Amino acid sequence: MPPKSATTPKPLVAGNWKMNGSRASLQEITLMGLGYDADLRRNVDLLVCPPTPLLYPAATAALGTAIAIGAQDSHEKISGAHTGDVSPNLVLDTGATMVILGHSERRTDHGEKDSLIEQKAGSAIATGLVAIVCVGETRAEREAGRALAVVRRQLRGSIPRTATAAQLVIAYEPVWAIGTGLTPTANDVAEVHLAIRTDLKKLLGKQQGEMVRILYGGSVKPNNAKELLSIDNVNGALVGGASLKAADFMAIAETYR
Ligand code: PEP
Repeated sequence: MPPKSATTPKPLVAGNWKMNGSRASLQEITLMGLGYDADLRRNVDLLVCPPTPLLYPAATAALGTAIAIGAQDSHEKISGAHTGDVSPNLVLDTGATMVILGHSERRTDHGEKDSLIEQKAGSAIATGLVAIVCVGETRAEREAGRALAVVRRQLRGSIPRTATAAQLVIAYEPVWAIGTGLTPTANDVAEVHLAIRTDLKKLLGKQQGEMVRILYGGSVKPNNAKELLSIDNVNGALVGGASLKAADFMAIAETYR
């Protein structure tokens, strides 16, 4: 599935290792690199986001493969007295180029709110990182018919208005689909992604809004990637569990060959 046209964003398949992996897992990046040949590189960008202590060795393992490395969070301040936190400057210094922000696990585990995520995205972008801002409704919100309203509110509250399409990626991740094996219907994904696209054009201007990549995330696996990734306004995937093994991750990326 080659890119649809020069006026649609280049797809991105991003792996979120969460709090998994060790130095031994870095061999998976080497294996991913072996499968990421020139044809695939033309059609899709690849990103792996390991836990923070693995950022530098992962960036080293990825040298020469064209696989980008990203962090799973960065602080809203550039530096300072914030024990245990990681500045966007340091993320960049490791060789990483992107950062996931506002993942539902951070929103839940750390009480992160839209306004904080917007600040983090602003600092990450000012530092030179690409911010991947996550949005998505809970099961209760979907069942109450509030999925679109929730996602649109999160989007409005979490993205810096001055961001360009090169600096920002949105990941739509229904919370109830993460790590559960459940996925929304293709119609539901299409509806949310269209709403995100429409709002991005209003918030960032038509030209930038059209070119921001909107990833789908939530139980993307080799066996459902083709269906999910061919939906309109789905410009790639944010992959959790299936990004830990090169074979699974590359099988998803192969959708774009
Ligand atoms: C994620 O961690 O963002 C995610 C989508 O996880 P999984 O693919 O395992 O559902």
